[in-house]
Amino acid sequence: MRSPESLAARTIGSRYFNRRNFLNAGVRFSPSFTWRSIWQAKGVVEIGGCWRIGDGKTIKIWKDPWLPKQNGSRIWSPPKILDPNATVETLIREEEKAWNTDLINQIFAPFEARQIQEIPIPRSEQTDTFIWKKARDGMFRVKLAYHQIKAQNRHQSSNNYEEQREDNTWKELWKTKAHPRTLNFIWRLLHKSLPTKKNLSRKGARCIPTCMRCWEGEETEEHLIRQCDFARRFWFASPLNLRTEQEEGLTLRKWFLDILEKLQLKEKGFFCTLIHQLWKARNQLVFEDKELPIIEEIETATRVFEEYWKAQKKEE
Ligand SMILES: [Zn+2]
Repeated sequence: MRSPESLAARTIGSRYFNRRNFLNAGVRFSPSFTWRSIWQAKGVVEIGGCWRIGDGKTIKIWKDPWLPKQNGSRIWSPPKILDPNATVETLIREEEKAWNTDLINQIFAPFEARQIQEIPIPRSEQTDTFIWKKARDGMFRVKLAYHQIKAQNRHQSSNNYEEQREDNTWKELWKTKAHPRTLNFIWRLLHKSLPTKKNLSRKGARCIPTCMRCWEGEETEEHLIRQCDFARRFWFASPLNLRTEQEEGLTLRKWFLDILEKLQLKEKGFFCTLIHQLWKARNQLVFEDKELPIIEEIETATRVFEEYWKAQKKEE
């Protein structure tokens, strides 16, 4: 146990808001416009705030800011071994009130493991408290928060173009002429809410998270739609003639939006139908042990889409 005079403890200061006072204060706390606008600003507590560890029960390891010396106060190492929603409590040996060094070294990058172990754990029972790091005494100050939010917004305006573009493309997606079930599927795919093996095992289901087609990668959305060898050949053989190996660095969502933007109305619908077909082919393999040649899968998608397209035209 390190002295409470350590750098971390001094940076944090002695005054604080606890979770009830601060996070639950809501607009009721003060109805002034300034306060409300700050409250509505996304992530006010994320700018200069940081959790100070009491028992670690309310602080989420990968979701809350709790590393006072790290830029942004958040963990950068990706979740591993523990559940992504695990709390800091799981890193503490309760009886000894000490960090579980072995576990911490297994999970975090060395520079983070060191920082964590420098944080003092209180000897007595204490709840976690949220403190405002930037103010010298740790008190939350409306004016200070306001200036920091403005500074942050300026910093973020460079991302606005991307955000705007993404918003527009979602609107484009809903206008796309493809079966509503297909559009619904695309939405779920891009929000990572499909029962892929990876998602199932992440939720605790007992299954091997490997792709049953190639047995080489984990069965994620990215893998099924883009990275699997089957998917690569599928896209290349399709009338859209897409090469997916050049776009390794893109997220699935960005890849999808990039392509959708370039296609004409009818092609957009066809593109979505092809993606849906990859998922249907996956289900055939997983549930019926059926594996059809790529050409047949593409033909099925083409037929399904043309039928839908013609029916729509008749209605117009
Ligand atoms: Zn695969």
